[in-house]
Amino acid sequence: MSASTRVAAVIGHPVRHSLSPAIFNAAFAAVGLDWAYLAFDVAEGHGGDAVRASRILGIDGLSVTMPHKAAAAAAVDQASDRALALDAVNCVSRRGDRLVGDNTDGPGFVASLRLDGGFDPQGTRCLVLGAGGAARAIVLALAEAGASEIVVVNRTEATAHVAVALAPGIARIGVSGDASHADLVVNATSIGMAHPDDPERARSLPIDAAHLGAGQVVADIVYHPLRTALLDAAASRGATVVEGLGMLVHQAALAFTIWTGEPAPLELMWAAARRNLPT
Ligand code: NAP
Repeated sequence: MSASTRVAAVIGHPVRHSLSPAIFNAAFAAVGLDWAYLAFDVAEGHGGDAVRASRILGIDGLSVTMPHKAAAAAAVDQASDRALALDAVNCVSRRGDRLVGDNTDGPGFVASLRLDGGFDPQGTRCLVLGAGGAARAIVLALAEAGASEIVVVNRTEATAHVAVALAPGIARIGVSGDASHADLVVNATSIGMAHPDDPERARSLPIDAAHLGAGQVVADIVYHPLRTALLDAAASRGATVVEGLGMLVHQAALAFTIWTGEPAPLELMWAAARRNLPT
């Protein structure tokens, strides 16, 4: 590294578990770019300040994760249509003095479906469990990718309405049983995520596995554990499964290309993500 090394970073809280530094630094090294990627733990309420500081510090690429995506959307000078619709920015690039915000979460998820699961959403019936930030990005991306129907199932109905409004005429609120008729079922809730104090949590299912079976693709965006209880249950009933690490790797690959203009070294990014997964 030298005084001319270009800097990219992630802001989030908590952020010390983030796989992004390993993924991006492996990618910069593989392509021979003099870039370095750091992680900044930024307390809630300071996301906008951190984004604005990136302009002053000359940070060329900023990844934004929980809980700062909405603050980043408000702090950038310009945002993509997708980021505006979601009111959430996960990728900031600096163009001279201007900060441009985008959201690569949904396109990253669809890239993972296509490349890792061999599934093209065009003309398919999809069911999304959850209606939080990640679920909304996925609903929008599935609609952009030509899904014919998107059923949103969420514990809190008011939030489900916000998700459905992103895909008018295509999305509707539904119930878990609707999964039996879906080509694609996505867990976009945090159910099934490992918790250090409660091993039972990783065994929870976001849906009764009886609704899942052969001919379906079941994707989980939880990636800790990599192979969730949902994916195990779906695979044992004959479904094709897509692990959540793909969404993380592909959204990073899209950010890499936005920042550097270079194609992303996907295989190396995958290897770095797998190597650095928490045990
Ligand atoms: P979020 O905005 O907080 O949304 C959480 C969602 O999970 C909401 O729909 C919430 O329902 C639901 N939920 C949580 N606990 C529940 C429970 N006990 N019962 C029923 N529903 C429950 O979070 P997010 O940012 O969307 O993230 C969701 C998950 O995706 C997290 O595990 C996150 O780590 C993961 N993620 C993965 C990637 C990736 O690249 N693979 C990217 C982003 C996020 P309510 O609306 O009813 O509260």
